[in-house]
Formats: sequence, structure tokens, C-alpha cells
Amino acid sequence: MDLPTYTPKDAAVPEGEVVLERASTPQELGPKLNRTAADVVRFLMQLGEMVTATQSLSDEQIELFADEIGATIRLVDPGEEQEVARETGLGVGGPLGEGEGSGGRRPPIITVMGHVDHGKTQLLDKIRDANVVADEAGGITQAIGAYQAEKDGRKITFIDTPGHAAFTAMRARGAEATDIVVLVVAADDGVMPQTIEAINHAKAADVPIVVAINKMDKETAQPDRVKQQLSEHGLIPQDWGGDTEMIPVSALTGDGVDDLLETLLLVADVEDLKANPEGRAAGVVIESHLDIGRGPVANILVQRGTLKVGEPLVAGPAWGRVRALINDHGEQVKEAGPSTPAQVLGLNDVADAGDTFVVAPDEKTAKSVAEKREHWQRVANLGREAAAASGGKLEDIFEQIQRGDVATLNLLLKTDTTGSLEALTESLRKLERDDVKLAFVHRAVGGITQQDIQLAATSGATIIGFNVRPDRKARELAQVEEVEIRTYEIIYQALEDIENAMVGLLAPEYEEVVTGEAEVREIFSVPKIGKIAGCYVLNGTITRNSKVRFLREGTIIWKGTVNSLRRFKDDVREVQAGYECGIGLSDFQDLKQGDIIETFEEREIPRS
Ligand code: GDP
Repeated sequence: MDLPTYTPKDAAVPEGEVVLERASTPQELGPKLNRTAADVVRFLMQLGEMVTATQSLSDEQIELFADEIGATIRLVDPGEEQEVARETGLGVGGPLGEGEGSGGRRPPIITVMGHVDHGKTQLLDKIRDANVVADEAGGITQAIGAYQAEKDGRKITFIDTPGHAAFTAMRARGAEATDIVVLVVAADDGVMPQTIEAINHAKAADVPIVVAINKMDKETAQPDRVKQQLSEHGLIPQDWGGDTEMIPVSALTGDGVDDLLETLLLVADVEDLKANPEGRAAGVVIESHLDIGRGPVANILVQRGTLKVGEPLVAGPAWGRVRALINDHGEQVKEAGPSTPAQVLGLNDVADAGDTFVVAPDEKTAKSVAEKREHWQRVANLGREAAAASGGKLEDIFEQIQRGDVATLNLLLKTDTTGSLEALTESLRKLERDDVKLAFVHRAVGGITQQDIQLAATSGATIIGFNVRPDRKARELAQVEEVEIRTYEIIYQALEDIENAMVGLLAPEYEEVVTGEAEVREIFSVPKIGKIAGCYVLNGTITRNSKVRFLREGTIIWKGTVNSLRRFKDDVREVQAGYECGIGLSDFQDLKQGDIIETFEEREIPRS
């Protein structure tokens, strides 16, 4: 059966707490949350629960739907709702706490992006050193995934992981945590490939960009050249009549950093960033790991409401009661309001970066919502695919056409020369039909990189390579992110393939091949990095960044990637059978002696 597609992000969610009667029907529930009854029915259908528009819903079904669209609700017994509404002077089902003092200004949340070595880390460090107000206790800053700087008495929240990997990882899970992107461009180096990718990521996410022209202390700095190059990519500096703020800075000396912070506050004002500090808190997980002694730890960013110690919480597939909240000074705090980063203790499990969290009405609901998360995440995925500019990958296009929708095929083109790039684009454009449109998410000359994969993953695009190939990392990431890469050496074949895809003739062809096997012999704890598995490679080759199945007594207990690979003190790309090595796994810490790390690869089967 063809399930109708549910698009959760179509409309705004009522701010504040919405009071709802128990046993409401989809017909009653939908409109109170700016949705239709059909939205509610489709959502529940995709969870496998068949309900009609006039059927009473369980508390849990109502909670799940509210959670899905990010609304804060309070369930009351029938009749009670009117009473609550009367007490608060608001209409039935209207948002509570929309009066004075709520929906207040909140600090902007900033992600720093840019080309490698252009000074992202240096800038984050400088801002932290110079602008984080030392508190009375003299607490040292603690890495909790984000920190808050202060400028003119106002706070600015910086996400501590620079680069677009974290940014896209969050977006890929539907979390839109960033308000403004600071694009760092070294004045002595100019616009480089990752600069362009960062621009495309920010544009795809519709997030405003403030450029920091860095390394101005260097004699070789050429800020005007940077502006010129950025203009070619659609970012026109304000002093040239455009609308992009470009601030010269030196992350080394700190010159210009104040200007940058002022500009960020200005842009934040234009964006009119608001959040209601009242009501149940919700937000996003920036990072989460297992800590010996403290159990699962989640570094989170509150997006609305105020999170308090003792509240029941569900974060991704994890749930629990907030046992402690720790701020960016390493101090225990009682609560965290909008745009505030905090470390949460008390969850039963680790969550993923980009998972959303929400305070539940009670522990029982938190638990049942967490237990439904697998379904829930699947639904989120479906919704996201539909939402990705209502475009899709080659495989999905046929379905869209069949449904009678105008399908958009999102493509990311990489070619060997500018000539071939233009030729391919031109020819592809000619394939467009009334019912199938093409959208180019990114077009560039050069090999297919990890950044291409990330961009394709977040925008639901298929990558077309002409006379270029993905490097190994890109190929591996493509498997993890399930991005389709098609490479060609003859334009005609590329066109034929895409035309075929438009009529639904293609299926992806991959085979899975085990590439290495290592046994965990010893476990080391490395400060700031976490657990490293001291391993002996039994078979094949272990390669950095390869996909991993983590086996305990033959059972897969985790899947992910090899994050770091070392022989003695050196980082290495691969280790052969018969040698020892240290393996660090992305966000997996639960290591035991005798566990097996199996690496594998999904190989593209050559098309005949
Ligand atoms: P990232 O890869 O973008 O995070 O770059 P880093 O912050 O690690 O900086 C790369 C190198 O550039 C480091 O050696 C920094 O010390 C240096 N650097 C960063 N900012 C400046 C700056 O404003 N002036 C100078 N002279 N060097 C800088």
C-alpha cells in the first residue's frame, strides 16, 4: 500500500503550552496544533496505528503527535480544559504564557565553518578566553559541546565543534540548531573548496552568514581579494552594496573579535530570535557519550522552555529524570533556559548528536515515547525526505511521479573540467519535463568528497560524477548516509541513466564485503577522547573511517565507524592482520575484552 506522505514541517507550531482534552479526536487535535486531521491520521498510520479522524486518541498518541511537531501540550480531563482556559484568560486550546515576559529574546546560536586551517578553532578559543565572564566561583570552562560568550551584557551561544560535519549531522536528523553561521576565511588564503561547501550548507539550511576575514595580522592578508572571491559565490559585502557582513579579524591577536560579536548581535536582532522560556523544555542533543561513574551524559542545547533538575526527559531513544545539570563553567545548575547549553546526567542511554529532546509530562510517558523512538525516527526520516525541497533521489522519483506529484530530482554535479560541467548541466536541463524538474544543489569541478556526501545527504540529492570518482572516505560516508553516487565517463550514458531514472527503471546495486576483523585485548581511557580499544588485527585490514559492526559473542551490539586508528603513538590509515593497534570508535564507549570489531564496505557492483 502506498502510504500518503506526512510532512511535519509545513506549518508553525503554536508557541507555549497548548491545553488539550484527553481523548481528543484527530479532527479536534489537528487544528489546535496548526495541523489538519489528516496530518494526525497519517502520522499515526506511519507508526502502524490505524485511526480515523473521528476516533478518540490515547494520551500517548496525542503526546507522540505533539512531540513529532515540537508542540508543548498539557493534557487535561474533558471539561477541565475550559476551566484552565478561563483561569488564564485565553481561548480554549490557545497557547498559555504568551503574555508579557514570555516569547522573549534569546541568545543567537552560532556555528563556525570554513576551510581547514583558516582559524575556526583559534577563533572559538579566542572568543571563549576573552568573552566568557569568569564567575564568582572562578569556575574554569568545561567542554560541554557549546559555550556562551557575553558582549554588552548579552549572551551569544557558540557550538564548540567547528566545521560543517556537526552542522550537517544535526540537520540530517532534522534539528535546526544554528541561527547564524560564522564563515571563517583566511585573508592570506582566500576562498577554498570547503569555504564554498560551507556557503552551500548554510544556504541549504537558510541560515544567515556572517563572514570573519581572519588572519588580518598577516602581512600577506588580502581582504579585498577575499571579498571579490566571495562575491563570485553570491556573498556580496555590505560596503559593496550587498547584504553580507564581512568583519576583518585576527583570531590570533583578538583584533576585530569585538566587532564580530557586535555584528552577530545585530544580525540576531534582525532575525528576531525569540523563545518562550516558560513551559516544558525542548531542544537538541549536541553530543552524548557514556562516562564511567556518571553513566550516559548528554550535552544539550535548550531551544525553548526551561529545563530543570528533576524533570522527566526523553532524548532520542534515551529517557530518564534529569539528575544533574552542568553549565559551561562546569558548575551544577538548577535550570537551563532557551539557547543555553548544558550537560544532562540521568538518562538511561546515550542519544545521537542531532536527536531532539523534550520534557515529558511524567516518567511513564518519557519511557513509552523513548521506546517508540525507533518508529518515531523512521517517521521523521520519511517526513524529512518529503521535506527535502520536496525533491528526491533517483530511486524515489518514480514513486513521486506515480502519485501524480511534480517531482524534483535533486542533483549534485561534480566533473573534471568547467567545460564538461556546463555541457552536462545544459544537457540535463533539456531532460526536464512537466512532471519532473531538476534542481542542482551544488555544481563544481573536482573529485567527490565527504563534504559533497554530507550536502547530498541533507538535501536528499543524488551525486553525479563525470570523469571524477569519490575518494575512499566519501565512498564510506556515502554508505553511512545512504547517498547514491553515479559516475560516468560518457555524457550520453549519464543522460540516458537519468532519463531512465525519471521513468523509474533504476535500482541501486551494492554488495557488502567484510574488510577486516580485530579483537579487543585491552581498553584505554584517553582524557577528552574517551575509550580506545587496544586490538589485535585477526584478519584483513582495519582502515580508518571504515564502517564497523561491533560484535560481542557473535551479536552485533553497535554499528558505526572507526574514528581513530593508531599504531603506538602514530595515527595511521590502516593496520594489517597480525599487528596490534588502538581503535577509537565514534561515540561508542562500552568496550569489553574479547569483543570483535568487524569492518566492512559496501561495494558498488559495476553496471553492465
Ligand atoms: P581550523 O582548522 O580552521 O580550526 O584552524 P585553526 O584554528 O586550527 O588554525 C590553523 C592555524 O592558523 C593555526 O596554526 C593557528 O594558530 C593559525 N591561525 C589562526 N588564526 C590566525 C590569525 O588570526 N592569525 C595568524 N597569524 N594565524 C592564525
